[in-house]
Amino acid sequence: MKDCRRLISMGLVLLVFAGPGCVRNPVTGKKQLRAISPGQEIAIGQNSAPEFESQMGGKVDNSKLQQYVASVGRKLAEVSDRSMPYEYALLNSDIPNAFALPGGKIYLTAGLMSQMRNERQLAAVLAHETIHVAAGHSVQGLQQQMGAAIFVELLGALVGGEGAQTAEAAAKFAGNMVLLKYSRGMESEADAYGVAYMVRAGYNPWGMVELLEVLQSLSNSNPGLFGDFFATHPLTSKRIKEVREIVKEDYSKFSPATPDPHEQDFMRMRSLLINTLKD
Ligand SMILES: [Zn+2]
Repeated sequence: MKDCRRLISMGLVLLVFAGPGCVRNPVTGKKQLRAISPGQEIAIGQNSAPEFESQMGGKVDNSKLQQYVASVGRKLAEVSDRSMPYEYALLNSDIPNAFALPGGKIYLTAGLMSQMRNERQLAAVLAHETIHVAAGHSVQGLQQQMGAAIFVELLGALVGGEGAQTAEAAAKFAGNMVLLKYSRGMESEADAYGVAYMVRAGYNPWGMVELLEVLQSLSNSNPGLFGDFFATHPLTSKRIKEVREIVKEDYSKFSPATPDPHEQDFMRMRSLLINTLKD
């Protein structure tokens, strides 16, 4: 409890809601303060998701594609250390990016999926985003970005307000979700524990290294395209090196040379995506 007492004495607390307290982070095992209850966290994601989705071009209108992304996501949700109503969906935006709303709504864009080459790379991005929810990064990140006082005020309007007040709060949360920037520490946790979730779900963890390398090489050839992605999930050579070392040392029975057994399924879905976007 010592860590929490220190946090409380530092005044970093929002002790205004029912449900705050000292809890153990289910992913990292570290003690931390919980400022809002899981129910409030789910309410933020669910109430602002429609506005968030419309700002991001809506969902791709193809049930086969949505079911495929959801089926890969479900394998990761099932091995998560934190029970949340996880949902995984594909957004109709060309700009490569991925998002995790508080409460478990997770998205990747068509632009990101179309740059991947196999299912383990898709699992890698969904695992990374799942950790942002399971470890509480998305809700903490939003509080930091919006400022504690505004966050509290808008949460009140979102869950307790009515009509225009609720809609305005949802729009403000959604706008912040589109631009949410995670700290380096959160990114490292999402990579490291994301790799662990991939392995638990039956995927080769080298998919995470492949994904980061693909993104980095694409960004070298077209820096403008990935501006938003790297603003929300900062990518550096150091980050790739760290993930590579974790996979090499902690998961030595896997090889980067092993083909992905689901590569054909993924490539079929990727062709379907490219054709759907053309229509
Ligand atoms: Zn991230």
